[in-house]
Amino acid sequence: MGPVHVPHFHIRWSGKETLDWEGFRTREEAEARAKQVVRLGETYALEDFEGDCPRCLDVWNLKSAQA
Ligand SMILES: [Zn+2]
Repeated sequence: MGPVHVPHFHIRWSGKETLDWEGFRTREEAEARAKQVVRLGETYALEDFEGDCPRCLDVWNLKSAQA
């Protein structure tokens, strides 16, 4: 379950159209994860959301549909 209704951060990878699905409560967590999984030559940006972000709602809807 993602932090849909609270302020959080997502990673946006260079060269990818969609935001990373995973939401993080703090910029530090997002940054730490990004540094763990970043590939050579890849860059990323952290985007913050106040809540009700479209990416989390996508994930939420997908999970609901599969249940
Ligand atoms: Zn989100």
